[in-house]
Amino acid sequence: MADATPVLQVRNLKQYFPIRGGVLGRIQNYVKAVDDISFDVYAGETLSIVGESGCGKSTTGRSILRLVEPTEGRILFEGQNIAELSKADLRRRRKDMQIIFQDPYSSFNPRQTIHQLLNEAMAIQNVLPKNARRARIQELLEMVGLKAEHIDRYPHEFSGGQRQRIAIARALSVDPKLLICDEAVSSLDVSVQAQVINLLKKLQRELGLTYIFIAHDLGVVRHISDRVVVMYLGKIAEVADKRTLFERPQHPYTKALLSAIPIPDPKIKRKRIPLVGDVPSPINPPTGCPFHTRCPFVMDRCRSELPPLHELDRNQYVACHLAESGPVDYDRLKLKNRTPEAE
Ligand code: SF4
Repeated sequence: MADATPVLQVRNLKQYFPIRGGVLGRIQNYVKAVDDISFDVYAGETLSIVGESGCGKSTTGRSILRLVEPTEGRILFEGQNIAELSKADLRRRRKDMQIIFQDPYSSFNPRQTIHQLLNEAMAIQNVLPKNARRARIQELLEMVGLKAEHIDRYPHEFSGGQRQRIAIARALSVDPKLLICDEAVSSLDVSVQAQVINLLKKLQRELGLTYIFIAHDLGVVRHISDRVVVMYLGKIAEVADKRTLFERPQHPYTKALLSAIPIPDPKIKRKRIPLVGDVPSPINPPTGCPFHTRCPFVMDRCRSELPPLHELDRNQYVACHLAESGPVDYDRLKLKNRTPEAE
């Protein structure tokens, strides 16, 4: 159960990537991958960040760890601004914040055994005396559901699910407090996904870890999250606790994403909210509400006024003009039949 202390506070984070061109390679424009977002992550919780491909969710995770240098904003981890740390201090702080990627194999050196891989991570962060590390690595392998005798094997000798377990063991080898899982189960089969999610939940209970879980699959997010941030085109569309978000979504984009999840029971009918067209380019995002080119409830003001993220209640924040004076009854709103607007 999460307590009420934010372990991480992200404030006005921007991540703009310059586009260079011309003979002199001057900056001609920016890809606004993350555009002024703020949120908290509480100790012991799982905060999921969801959205379509290109919404900025993975860039947010990488910016928090400064794997890409944020353009602007503050990232307060236990009150300390990560964005201002020197390289040496950042390296020390990274011990507390680890990341697991979708494809762990690409982050493993295929010539290193599991022992060498984990020992390297522990040596960089000065974890345990050298002669105590082998036993600790064997213990970690057992914690993640592998065998102690796997320690001298190479990554290619394992399946995809087992490799993800090794990636988790490597992340845990430096005793982190926060784990960022960046599409960590997306490439696994459904049954293996469930096993890895159960493992992450078990480790969270046992070690008191805090997770940021980045994913596009809302079915997976439903199983692991305490709260959910929905991102669209580099901005936050909605933040809510899991139950509220899945039972009473208030942003049209969240409603559209949820309405696309298949229901296994044919007797249950759900009003489908179609998402027309593609996500606009983050180089030239639409004026006003970033979702207005695809929103089936668009109004004139949406084309010029950016809706702020406002509080509907303690558990739910929404960036939509429709919800500015209270919860929206979508069953009474008429869906507009529309084609995507050009920007
Ligand atoms: Fe749709 Fe307007 Fe709400 Fe944006 S502000 S989500 S365009 S209704």
